[in-house]
Amino acid sequence: MKKFVSVAAFLTSLLLVFSCGQRLPKTADLLITGGTVYDGSEKSPVKADIAVVGNKIVYVAPAKADIVNRCAAKRTINAEGYVVCPGFIDPHDHLEPTLLKDRANESYLRMGVTTVIPGMCGGSRYPIGDFFAKLEEQGIGTNVASFTGHNTIREQVMGDEARYATPEEVEKMKELVRQEMRDGSLGLSTGLFYVPGCFSETSEVVELMKEMGKMGGMYTTHVRNENKFNIGLVNSIREALEIGKAAGVPVNISHIKCLGRSEWYKADSVISLIESYQQQGMKVTADQYPYLASGIGMASALTPAWCRDGGTKAMRERFKDPELLARIKAEIPDILYERGGAETIYISKNAGEYSQMTLAEAAAKMKKSPVDAIIELLSDKTKSPYLNTFIANEEDLTKYMKQPWVMSCTDGSFGSHPRAAGTYAELIKQFVVEKRVLTLDRFIRRSTGQVAETYGLKNRGFLRKGCFADITIFKPEEVVPHASYADPTLFATGFKNVIVNGEIAVENDVYTGTLSGMVLRHEVK
Ligand SMILES: [Zn+2]
Repeated sequence: MKKFVSVAAFLTSLLLVFSCGQRLPKTADLLITGGTVYDGSEKSPVKADIAVVGNKIVYVAPAKADIVNRCAAKRTINAEGYVVCPGFIDPHDHLEPTLLKDRANESYLRMGVTTVIPGMCGGSRYPIGDFFAKLEEQGIGTNVASFTGHNTIREQVMGDEARYATPEEVEKMKELVRQEMRDGSLGLSTGLFYVPGCFSETSEVVELMKEMGKMGGMYTTHVRNENKFNIGLVNSIREALEIGKAAGVPVNISHIKCLGRSEWYKADSVISLIESYQQQGMKVTADQYPYLASGIGMASALTPAWCRDGGTKAMRERFKDPELLARIKAEIPDILYERGGAETIYISKNAGEYSQMTLAEAAAKMKKSPVDAIIELLSDKTKSPYLNTFIANEEDLTKYMKQPWVMSCTDGSFGSHPRAAGTYAELIKQFVVEKRVLTLDRFIRRSTGQVAETYGLKNRGFLRKGCFADITIFKPEEVVPHASYADPTLFATGFKNVIVNGEIAVENDVYTGTLSGMVLRHEVK
């Protein structure tokens, strides 16, 4: 009994240290009072006050009615009745063009996101140092960290060539990887599905990951095949896990899904495979966007990989060879079937008069079969059709979403798919409030602190003293996604405030114009 009492006393004193150990400053730049604070950890929410000085949180403690009298703040937000949580961190997107053109990255700010991480699926801006410098020079609305793409590195050394790398070329690639890591890359992403990553053997990737791992980076991968082609979904996941194991680095499976009708209902197999590696002590995570359609270029989606060898120009040359064309056309129907068929495949942009219609509608307009319509669209040098293809099913999506090692992501590039403007609002409205697939606690954790921990983003993703003041304030029942496949550019609504490094970036669904985002560079160990 005595022991129990002393343990209880110890715990109480710890709690006192947590809640009262923080001194409220006499002045602050920003006070957020009385909100229901989810701090980004597994802990239950607490009604608390937050004080911000400069770009840092200096105080988080249980709410006190008289706080406004004890701390003179330049600005006070009464968050009573609102959720106050860390700004969402999107661990996977393709925002390089957006960040360089529309520097505000407004569609992300408007759905509560304060940090984005591009450089995914094997493709990044090279060299990363120049990309970061450009972002800093122009100013950015959200924080930006970035990965380096394996395909990008491979292109630097050997172009689009469809062959294995020589040992000398691997050495050259390692050198570039080291430089990218020194310049602040979070790690290496692979897109083994895409050209030229698809031409690399596993050992090449292992060698590069070992080099990256020595510098404390992380491996994230768009696996070789998320569909039935080539080695298939489950074997592709296994390849990624084996690469991580051989290189001794943590593995993140990018936009986890079961792609195509033949791979549907395999979520259980994928989950148990991943868990078997986790049980061996490996750190394995995944990220996921909450949509049943993917966004992808038409050539990557609807032609066999061999016909894209050498890039778009080489593909168009093959279309001119009657024998090769016949072979390509013979293989397309199966790919079309896996991607849901011409009736559901939606051409979202870059196809001139055939944009914003289904492939079946475009084919009817051309008075051609869907297969011939694909060849015609891809042969046209003025077009680069981008598609939304309905490749997933809800059962797999839900199973993945419930895994404790799966994080929220957008996989977004603005204007081509609703995910770049709707993901976090969709998760809140559809998956937390309506379908209750995720609890609000779990949604916030997988969108904030868990991402920061996985990617080693220091002092981000948590509402704690000393952390950067990236904060999102909303009422779940007020959040509405508006982006759709027909108009993927519509911003979400229902966010009272989004704060980036202490500056208010969104106020009642209006972007304030601030560019307070920072470049987050990985520090080499
Ligand atoms: Zn990808």
